[in-house]
Amino acid sequence: MSKKVIVIGAGASGLMAAGFCAAKGNTVTLLERNDKVGRKLMITGKGRCNVTNACTMLNELIENVPVNGRFLYTAFSRFMPSDTMEFFESLGVPLKIERGNRVFPVSDKSVDIVDALNGFVKRNGVKRIQEHVTSLIIKDSSVSGVKCESGNEYTADDVIVATGGKSYPLTGSTGDGYIFARQAGHTVVKPKPSLVPLECHEGFCSQLKGLSLKNISIKIYDNEKFREIYSDFGEMLFTHFGVSGPVVLSASSHIREMQSGRYELHIDLKPALTFEQLDKRLLREFKENPSKAIINIMNLLLPKSLVPVFVKLTRIHPATKANQVTKDMRIEIINLLKDFKLTITDFRPLDEAVITSGGIEVKEINPKTMESKLCRNLYFCGEVIDVDAYTGGFNLQIAFSTGYLAGNSI
Ligand SMILES: Cc1cc2nc3c(=O)[nH]c(=O)nc-3n(C[C@H](O)[C@H](O)[C@H](O)COP(=O)(O)OP(=O)(O)OC[C@H]3O[C@@H](n4cnc5c(N)ncnc54)[C@H](O)[C@@H]3O)c2cc1C
Repeated sequence: MSKKVIVIGAGASGLMAAGFCAAKGNTVTLLERNDKVGRKLMITGKGRCNVTNACTMLNELIENVPVNGRFLYTAFSRFMPSDTMEFFESLGVPLKIERGNRVFPVSDKSVDIVDALNGFVKRNGVKRIQEHVTSLIIKDSSVSGVKCESGNEYTADDVIVATGGKSYPLTGSTGDGYIFARQAGHTVVKPKPSLVPLECHEGFCSQLKGLSLKNISIKIYDNEKFREIYSDFGEMLFTHFGVSGPVVLSASSHIREMQSGRYELHIDLKPALTFEQLDKRLLREFKENPSKAIINIMNLLLPKSLVPVFVKLTRIHPATKANQVTKDMRIEIINLLKDFKLTITDFRPLDEAVITSGGIEVKEINPKTMESKLCRNLYFCGEVIDVDAYTGGFNLQIAFSTGYLAGNSI
């Protein structure tokens, strides 16, 4: 029997849900507050859209979802990354696999993914209307439609909430889904930022603002548990408040209980060289430039803007000549090159986070269908649910898998 279905939100999960639901013969209306679909999708992967991760094992997928990964067992098994890849290639978007199994369109353009999804929903007869939904219409624990800011009301047999999280609110994802969920009696786990820049105690970060460090390795140390909780290699960036960039964003999702001073970021500025190799390199530079000031010698080893801060931290006078540098001073320099330490004080706010951690309590959603256990005919998919993953295309895979499952369950 064909049903009348409303999908709220035309992001990654809503477009998926709407298209597959309509493909089954249902009459689907997609309500989106923006004039265009997939605004957040457009900015994913720095405009290149890391559309999924080409991992083939279900367990590996779940391991990359540190919060409530098991809840996604059915959604992932019904729509795996290989299905995502096949889906987009069948829509005419050739894909490529990069480092870490990250999948991108060959064109490096997220607009190709958005256009493909838009074409998919249109071809399946989904009707899209620009509306800002303000509440659900619920009677006797069953949803029967939605009310909009315009004053319009839409009735439906089923409603799918695909409104996303609360980060990057300018894209339209402002957390409205949490209001709808509460209205239906759901618990909302407090939204928190994840994959987010980090604030640091050290004032010199603002002095280094804009400096990007490439090919460095980092470690995050938990002072309370006395252990390293994360390590990575890649690129990071100094900002006026602390640090950002790929390795920092990834690290942030491993920090679960933020407390000022509890976590430290240790940067190895020369990961390719051992202590001994660095010592030899310094000795060579000192020998070749005996009357050069240490500050100028360090310019040969580090980005220019980092050198004054670096030399100050070694407590060696910047004018010290190479032939005056003692063994202890050399050890001090090498120690700092191998372990440049920053103290983390906080996450940046939620609206700067790539992902919202928290959301609708998973125990109140049927993982086999994405239907609410508390309100009949109501479904959820995507980031609005309390699941979040590491970087690498896993978050979009969550949106596609849960959207596919919700759309196919009606
Ligand atoms: C900068 C950035 C880069 C990212 N890069 C990647 C990446 O490369 N790979 C990856 O896997 N993940 C990435 N992500 C995460 C990924 O984009 C999200 O996890 C994903 O878009 C979530 O999909 P969604 O459908 O749940 O929500 P969204 O894509 O946020 O869509 C929600 C939609 O609902 C609409 N909406 C909200 N409220 C209402 C309302 N009341 N009425 C009507 N419409 C409403 C919004 O306008 C929006 O269009 C990135 C995120 C950001 C911010």
